[in-house]
Amino acid sequence: MIPAKAYAAYDASTPLAPFDFSRRSPGLQDVQIEILYCGVCHSDVHQVRNEWGGGSIYPMVPGHEIVGKVLAVGEQVKKFKVGDLAGVGVMIDSCRVCKHCTNDLEQYCVEGMTGTYNTYERDGKTLAQGGYSTQIVTDEKYVLKISPKLDLKAAAPLLCAGITTYSPLRYTKVGKGTKVGVMGLGGLGHMGLKFAVAFGAEVTMISTSASKEADAKKLGAHHFLLSSDDEQMKKYAGYFDVILNTVSARHEYHRFLNLLNLNGTMIVVGLPSEDPQVKLFSLLSNRRSLLGSVIGGIKETQEMLDFCAEHDIVADVEVIPIQRINEAYDRMIRGDVHYRFVIDIDSLRN
Ligand code: NAP
Ligand code: ZN
Ligand code: ZN
Repeated sequence: MIPAKAYAAYDASTPLAPFDFSRRSPGLQDVQIEILYCGVCHSDVHQVRNEWGGGSIYPMVPGHEIVGKVLAVGEQVKKFKVGDLAGVGVMIDSCRVCKHCTNDLEQYCVEGMTGTYNTYERDGKTLAQGGYSTQIVTDEKYVLKISPKLDLKAAAPLLCAGITTYSPLRYTKVGKGTKVGVMGLGGLGHMGLKFAVAFGAEVTMISTSASKEADAKKLGAHHFLLSSDDEQMKKYAGYFDVILNTVSARHEYHRFLNLLNLNGTMIVVGLPSEDPQVKLFSLLSNRRSLLGSVIGGIKETQEMLDFCAEHDIVADVEVIPIQRINEAYDRMIRGDVHYRFVIDIDSLRN
């Protein structure tokens, strides 16, 4: 067994605190990674605080935007060697044989994918623990290659915020001539904005925070729509082909569905704790669609990482020591994140 240091949630309401545990020694197909950085996703907060129901499992080491260096590999590992850069995202396993797993869509595994934390591994008894920790051991099939061209700390958020926005923007064929609105300028939103711009679309940032307009433009947005301003909302009625909804808290869907053009699609990736009410009139008029999407498959995640290396795309990050994680959660909930917190995992080693 390999000793690991971490920060964990011990229950849904107390702050995260230090936690020591063990990782398994690498098996034949495993990669042992020394974690260097881990991004902080709003899904970490939802799960730590048990906001999605279903019963979170404690002690919980959150974190699914993991990057680091390979320390050891199992005998049958082909993709990695000691010293390589490697990443682990939201998924560490799946059944591998179902119609979705065999079609590079493991995130929709018929048996359910195995998450990086807050679940049991496929043996049914090992509690999976995430990246707010010094080490992780994962089957190479679910480990990603990270180009040394990328700034490592800023590449960490690509493992969740990156793929979660890249995948549905590709699926909806966003490109030149598409009018895209991105709702919520946080971790996912700022990556969605960068990708939609990189794909050649006309992009509008739709935000509740007037103070984020200048940043949105710096990040590449062509327009900025303050969603609390009814006049501006009226001006954009029926305007967008695709809206990427990354909002983490309750909001009124119909106000935003009304912004979609004929045949427009709202991609839903944000997962507030309460389900929204959808007014069917706003869906039926203009033949609009709601499209849900969960991260992306391993093959597409690698494609996204390679795209980022080629086009020099990374997240805008604020690096924190693990000791500031609880403050980072509070700030993220207030919408005060510019635009992803990333933990420097060396702060756990010292
Ligand atoms: P985040 O960094 O906190 O960003 C969320 C943004 O939503 C905020 O910055 C804010 O942007 C906006 N917002 C917050 N409260 C709002 C409110 N009451 N009304 C309207 N807008 C509000 O969160 P994130 O890490 O990007 O995650 C976003 C959501 O996606 C979370 O629910 C998370 O669980 C989910 N998620 C889903 C997947 C998936 O696979 N589908 C993957 C990762 C995360 P403005 O200030 O610009 O309004
Ligand atoms: Zn995430
Ligand atoms: Zn499967």
